[in-house]
Amino acid sequence: MKMSEINLKKVAVVTGGTKGIGQGIVLELASRGFLVYALGRNLPEMNNYTQDSTLAENIHFAKCDVSNFDQVSEVFSSIVKEAGRIDVLVNNAGITKDGLLLRMKETDWDAVMDINLKGAFNTSKAVARTMMGQRSGRIINIGSIVGTTGNAGQSNYSASKSGLVGFTKSLASELGSRNILVNLIAPGYIQTDMTANLTKEQLKAFVSNIPLKRAGLPEDIARVVAFFAGVDSSYITGQIIHVDGGLAM
Ligand code: NAP
Repeated sequence: MKMSEINLKKVAVVTGGTKGIGQGIVLELASRGFLVYALGRNLPEMNNYTQDSTLAENIHFAKCDVSNFDQVSEVFSSIVKEAGRIDVLVNNAGITKDGLLLRMKETDWDAVMDINLKGAFNTSKAVARTMMGQRSGRIINIGSIVGTTGNAGQSNYSASKSGLVGFTKSLASELGSRNILVNLIAPGYIQTDMTANLTKEQLKAFVSNIPLKRAGLPEDIARVVAFFAGVDSSYITGQIIHVDGGLAM
């Protein structure tokens, strides 16, 4: 793709964009004309990722571990060099290392914090100057229902997601005067590899508690990301929106 073509498109960076919810977000933004950089530690083959060649044209993969400050700075600098700008950052990369507190290892606490919370700090810091210079930008953090409700066996994960709520509101206050909008989407139960370990019975019991009586799909989250990335949300910042079929009210 030539530089002149790239510069006509809005540019989005999606961390953890290589599978699951992140893949759904990348495909949705690409289908809306964004040039999207999908970041992850392991990169997929484009053929397995999408068969749609018009979407593939709008997607680049880049290897990046969001918990590594220096690597994040380097990758974001090279994206700005190549694409000329970054309009949207989606902080979606996340992991779980579940366990009850008494059994949780310090390394399980640290790994979840380093990726889920510090990762968002690393990437937001890497785009802030660019977005401030542009006098526009959108940062969309992917939290979780358990950042609001908590969950036994997920003290590390819940704390990281609650931390993102405070981070979102603080950045929204700091960056609002530069027209940088910062919001958080809190998914409920979404069918991806992260949640694939539930048995059929557990899933059935879980879904029966969801008012909409179905599990969520990556597209359910991706369409709300597109809303926060687009013109329809231009007077919304510092907000938390639950996308969970009504599970947390
Ligand atoms: P997933 O299928 O496990 O995908 C996670 C993505 O994050 C992968 O692309 C993974 O790629 C990437 N990732 C993990 N560690 C990374 C790192 N250090 N640096 C860069 N990328 C990294 O999970 P998912 O269900 O799509 O979850 C996406 C987000 O939604 C997470 O933040 C999760 O907490 C949140 N969420 C999910 C649910 C749900 O029900 N699924 C509910 C609430 C919130 P690599 O491993 O190759 O790096």
